[in-house]
Amino acid sequence: MLWFRGYGRLRMTKFVFVTGGVSSSLGKGLTASSLGRLLKSRGLKVTMCKLDPYLNVDPGTMNPGEHGEVYVTDDGGETDLDLGHYERFIDESLSKMSNTTTGQIYSNVIAKERRGDYLGKTVQVIPHITDEIKERVRRLGTLGADVVIVEIGGTVGDIEIVPFIESIRQFRRDAGRDNVCYVHLTLVPYLAPSGEQKTKPTQHSVTELRSRGIQPDIIVCRSDQPLSDGLKRKISLLCDVPMNAVISAVDAPSIYDIPITMYNEGLDTMVCNTLRIDLDSHPIDLSAWQEVVRRVHSTTKSLRIGVIGKYVTMPDAYLSVGESIRHAGFAVGAKTTIEWLEAERVPTEIDVERIRQLDGIVVPGGFGERGVEGMIAAARIAREHDIPYLGICLGMQVMVVEFARHCLGLGDAHSTEISISTSAPVIALMAEQMDVTDLGGTMRLGACPAMLDEGSVVAGLYGTTVVSERHRHRYEFNARYREQFEAGGMMCSGTSPDGRLVEFTEIPSHPFFVGTQAHPEFKSRPDRPHPLFLGLIKAAAARAEGREPHIIDPETVDATL
Ligand code: GLN
Repeated sequence: MLWFRGYGRLRMTKFVFVTGGVSSSLGKGLTASSLGRLLKSRGLKVTMCKLDPYLNVDPGTMNPGEHGEVYVTDDGGETDLDLGHYERFIDESLSKMSNTTTGQIYSNVIAKERRGDYLGKTVQVIPHITDEIKERVRRLGTLGADVVIVEIGGTVGDIEIVPFIESIRQFRRDAGRDNVCYVHLTLVPYLAPSGEQKTKPTQHSVTELRSRGIQPDIIVCRSDQPLSDGLKRKISLLCDVPMNAVISAVDAPSIYDIPITMYNEGLDTMVCNTLRIDLDSHPIDLSAWQEVVRRVHSTTKSLRIGVIGKYVTMPDAYLSVGESIRHAGFAVGAKTTIEWLEAERVPTEIDVERIRQLDGIVVPGGFGERGVEGMIAAARIAREHDIPYLGICLGMQVMVVEFARHCLGLGDAHSTEISISTSAPVIALMAEQMDVTDLGGTMRLGACPAMLDEGSVVAGLYGTTVVSERHRHRYEFNARYREQFEAGGMMCSGTSPDGRLVEFTEIPSHPFFVGTQAHPEFKSRPDRPHPLFLGLIKAAAARAEGREPHIIDPETVDATL
């Protein structure tokens, strides 16, 4: 049988499918990730994937202001932001294979049809689309994981989700009853006028799932207050699951508390029981995660970090940046309050004085012209006022442009992404730098190695001179200007191994002024903060020591943890 994996810990790979009902944004990704962490803490090898019912081939072409961040994997996959939660919680590097969209499924099936793979057949949603979906999931199960957790994007009842639901229904028949577990996440709202929690939306959502042939094994109920035993009994009776398979997922003080809450409710135990995974031979060790949670709740100082970007009205657009800042904060015992500041409003509405209130600044990645002058202004303020600054991708590019304009006398300096006619193209496409005219496929995606200069700030932070970081950009530091920059005091402290691409820039005489062409935020973990973010936060903590009390604009402050 195809699923047989030989002599691993579990003889068969097991599959958990997580669906959602009632409403979107209930935290399916975090529930799935928390389950992943719990199973990993039982010594099981876990991998995860997301099935997204939209027609884009990947989220790379979507507006982050609407869809949230594009999470980049080592192999250059542009994927859904939930993969970021997966990697941060289960601490395993995932690949493109962990995100499948309707767009990918249809393009593949249509390409096969054109190739003649289905010659003579009518190509249909069932079985061709459903087979393609199942094949993607099955393939993940051949890579050595004991358990594959599959999150289905969207909400049951959506038109787009139907082929996915049908595929996972069939999956249990194919893989065997004991190798598949269905977890359904719903909402139990509290109605203030009647003072009650309501189970009806859960009942309807389970009915909808059953109408597609799936009886959930476990129902996870999101609510703002814990479910009483009475309510659990009611859901158990009406939705036909054992009472201990009704899991109360009450709002948690931080996302890092969720695995512990889920453990206390017995989620992993129920999943293991359904999958016939012997609990005695897989005892849980939660100590590492408990240590994370302990750190999250034992911060003794507070830091204000400004994220100055283009899509700040949608903080999900910078989800991994926010998490990375928090991880670094936990490591130094600091609660980091993130202020999301709209680059377009700098320096007019958000002026020098306001920015000086910050302990540190991050200018994150971005594309296009909007807000870039504001980011350049922010980089200037940070440089001139000794405010710790971390520039990520576009954030590094603006710090380079700013330095060229105000320290090297190249008043017109720019990135050719914004100004094609600049007389000082300090940031340019590789192709432009090499006078190549074919600009197709120019995005640099995925993990790339870099060599750091011995003695540089970044080498000190990483504690090594060979690093690998994930990329997603088209433009690069223009190597023609390198000598001029270094003579002026901004060092190109890390490059690609062939020395041609500048990967890191820094001003050693500044308390902390570091830029990277990569996206370090994708590799930060709650118990392993990324060295660049840690460097920023330590510098911010040093700055905060002598600071005045802050003026805080509550509108821009991040309330989430
Ligand atoms: N727009 C810039 C580029 O393509 C930066 C991209 C980014 O920040 N991810 O090079």
